[in-house]
Amino acid sequence: MLVVTGAPAEYVEPGSGAATSSKDMPRSLAASITGGKIVLRATRLRPGNIRGVIEIGCHFDIANVTTEAAAAGATAAQVFLSDPQKWPTKTIAYPGGADGLKHDAAAAHLPLYVHAPYLINLATLTAKGQTMARNMLRSTISGAASIGAKGVVVHGGHVAAKADPIAGFLSWKDAVDTVYAPGATRGSVPIFIENTAGGNNAMARELDRIAVLWEAISHSEYASEVGFCLDTCHAWAAGWDLTTAVHDIKKITGRLDLIHLNDSRDAAGSGADRHAPLGQGHIPAELLVNIVKEAKCPVIIETHGNPTTEIDWLKARL
Ligand SMILES: [Zn+2]
Repeated sequence: MLVVTGAPAEYVEPGSGAATSSKDMPRSLAASITGGKIVLRATRLRPGNIRGVIEIGCHFDIANVTTEAAAAGATAAQVFLSDPQKWPTKTIAYPGGADGLKHDAAAAHLPLYVHAPYLINLATLTAKGQTMARNMLRSTISGAASIGAKGVVVHGGHVAAKADPIAGFLSWKDAVDTVYAPGATRGSVPIFIENTAGGNNAMARELDRIAVLWEAISHSEYASEVGFCLDTCHAWAAGWDLTTAVHDIKKITGRLDLIHLNDSRDAAGSGADRHAPLGQGHIPAELLVNIVKEAKCPVIIETHGNPTTEIDWLKARL
């Protein structure tokens, strides 16, 4: 049974503020510093010099992902394993298949993220729909593991217009139980739930719904496999305050695993999922840049802009 317990525990941002001495740094980093490496490591963490430590990349075609990422100066990449509008196929359209991509990405020190097919709706309430969505996610996680990916991005999904959203949150929790049960997938990769721009009765459009979704998933023994992907265009379209978005989402989820950094072709609160190249849409540039600075997690750009131009736009502002 789902028990909504009200406001989650207060999130305290680790390492906030300038890292002026080892005392102020995150404990894990401070513990790893020895002898002559102190100056180098401390310098790299200083605000204003995070370009080199934050992974920044784009969504690329899986067939050419390593060469396109290298050409664009990307230090991370996102791919679809197969046509996102269709049932996932087992074939990886990369020279040498999954093994070839895993090898080449590792050799290039290129972290890979997988975006799940759009057809997956893990909130769905029909038995047939649930089986289909969960099988599709199992297949996607298995495929992501086969290429050594660090995470699978999945949209929050929705329930039918007149359905009870609580049932959708519980369906999500059951889906997490199912896909992470022992033996359900070949290999294991975490999923990152992405906030969505619009849609009726969406599970992850508004912050208050994300809070209940997280509460539901927290009842799964595999809750630690579930992270969050913040899409700036979707948050803008859904009417979030982008000045506090990173803090607001971390207060709910306690973690932020990936940023989808996209500008928006439409005004705030439009509900429209239409990405624009960075600096060419309605989202003020400083809001986009500040989200990256605050989040300190990998960034994937999903616009139709030139990947080199998009990555350079961001790097120049960090
Ligand atoms: Zn996205």
